[in-house]
Amino acid sequence: MSDTSTAINKIYKERQEFIILGLTGRTGSGCSTVADILTKNKKYIEENCKINYGFNNIEERKNKIVFDYLLSKWQKFYKISVTDMLTLFIIDNSIDEVCEFISEEFKKFMNNSDKDVSDSNELKNKFKEKLKKIDYKKIKNSREENRGKLKKIEQNEKVDEDLKEIIESSYNFYFHQLPKFSKKIKIAIDEVYSEMGYTVFYQLIGDNIRSSGKAFDNIFNPDEMYNLSKIINKFTKLIRRKAQISDENCLIVIDAIRNPFEAFYFKDRYSAFYLVSINTEDKIRKNRLFTNLKRNKDEIDAIDNKEYKNKLKKEKIFVSQNIQKCIEISDIHLTNPTYGEKNYSFLIQQLFRYITLIIHPGLVTPTPIERCMQITYSAKLNSGCISRQVGAVITDENYSVKAVGWNDTAAGQIPCLLRSAESLLKFEDKEAFSDYENNNTGFKEVMESKYQKNLDKDKLDGRNLSYCFKDVQNFIEKEKNQVHTRSLHAEENAFLQITKYGGEGIEGGILFTTASPCELCSKKAYQLGIKKIVYIDPYPGIANEHILSIGNDSQRPELQLFHGVTGSAYHKLYQPILSFKDELNWITNIDLKYNNDHERLTEENKKLKNKIKKLEKQINGKKS
Ligand SMILES: [Zn+2]
Ligand SMILES: [Zn+2]
Repeated sequence: MSDTSTAINKIYKERQEFIILGLTGRTGSGCSTVADILTKNKKYIEENCKINYGFNNIEERKNKIVFDYLLSKWQKFYKISVTDMLTLFIIDNSIDEVCEFISEEFKKFMNNSDKDVSDSNELKNKFKEKLKKIDYKKIKNSREENRGKLKKIEQNEKVDEDLKEIIESSYNFYFHQLPKFSKKIKIAIDEVYSEMGYTVFYQLIGDNIRSSGKAFDNIFNPDEMYNLSKIINKFTKLIRRKAQISDENCLIVIDAIRNPFEAFYFKDRYSAFYLVSINTEDKIRKNRLFTNLKRNKDEIDAIDNKEYKNKLKKEKIFVSQNIQKCIEISDIHLTNPTYGEKNYSFLIQQLFRYITLIIHPGLVTPTPIERCMQITYSAKLNSGCISRQVGAVITDENYSVKAVGWNDTAAGQIPCLLRSAESLLKFEDKEAFSDYENNNTGFKEVMESKYQKNLDKDKLDGRNLSYCFKDVQNFIEKEKNQVHTRSLHAEENAFLQITKYGGEGIEGGILFTTASPCELCSKKAYQLGIKKIVYIDPYPGIANEHILSIGNDSQRPELQLFHGVTGSAYHKLYQPILSFKDELNWITNIDLKYNNDHERLTEENKKLKNKIKKLEKQINGKKS
């Protein structure tokens, strides 16, 4: 092998040596399924994956290239289950503390839905017996024994036989014994507190740990807010050492990341970290929760309410789950349409493509849908709305872009982000404010009290004092009226661009949105004859079931959950490191450069030979 080819292979080998995938998604969307697939060996993948590849269309060709590239290199991932990490925090407490806490939380849960809790003491005793039966004390003791080991592993760079043994035994505890126990305690909770179920309980513990660093304490302390992330990070380091002594690549999947600050924690630390969202249409997800995972209606409502709250209060944004935000900031989006049947081909197909691209960027090109969504994703950042940024793109049926939009005020009006309450109250920048804002005394009074009298300006630390008109007006009217929003919606704006500047009709076209279309925009899309709506946020409210699901089947727009890469990951995964031609030439030494040396030398040779003949003739002539 030549030096260049060794160097080139090294680039890609290094990229495969360390990858962290953080999974995110709503309960029931399939994070655990994906995590499990990633932990399978090559044989399983080969047997279970009927990847759609061949030469029928361009995507099939890409699948073939990806499959040929990755299968030979496939290596199973190590899984970090966040649920197991939460269990670790639980077993810091005594049996009595655990029983007391869960009993109290159960009572609160039941009270919320007006249910009878008269048997709570009975349940508490029953649960205590269960914990004894599953050897709670034993796992707690093992945890104590293992506590010092992680530090030792971290502090010692050199791996000798002693350290090797510590790494192995530590790994065995955290990744074999602990998960087994975790499973048992979850079953125990489900059996005793069946109405609440373990998911609700574990979500609560997750929130507590992000608040206080402790499983049963919910007092918020900013110093502790990265506690869960730090623990997960500790175990990525343990796995790194384990992979090192096993002579394996360190491929890690985290199941699952549920708070955006957790995701940023890893994004900031590892360039090889990718946040991967797994999405499912809401209907399928709920069915899955009911039938496959045997969750009851109250439980599902509680889970949904937790994961997809409309607005989180204050410190809750650091503490609580926020799956919607996690999906929004994901690098890679997968869809998991399977229901009932255990056919994971489509998931594996998607995983194969993106893992291949992580190792070898640019080996295949983006899909047209990814290309359009990337434009949509870029457009959203132009929005000057201070509460949320959304992007939209309209294309014809062949993905040719016809209009781009984002949520913003009408052109010429100054968006909320760029005007300030200070200017309003100082009577400067008058054009930025409406006559109502400038002249209405009631409005001015509220602005003065909220944004001047009761405001400590130092706290702004140099920031512009923007305000949301809708919020102020609703405060005055004691209402929650969306009509007061200053911005046009992204989709609406994109539609209007065509009306404004002229262009082709978009009947039969496709609408892309980084969120999901609201009722108002869905109505407009329907009226315009849009045939497909591609969206990221799997929370369409009743827009789908009500506005879009009416009338003749052929008229109804098809809603399609986006899968693909967005944002900076689009560039990271699709930007080739080398031109592919050079790469191939350098690793194979196939040399197609036209070489004219031979011809030139032959010609020269011929000339010289003629010259010799001439000279010989001359000499011979003189002689004779
Ligand atoms: Zn606004
Ligand atoms: Zn809308």
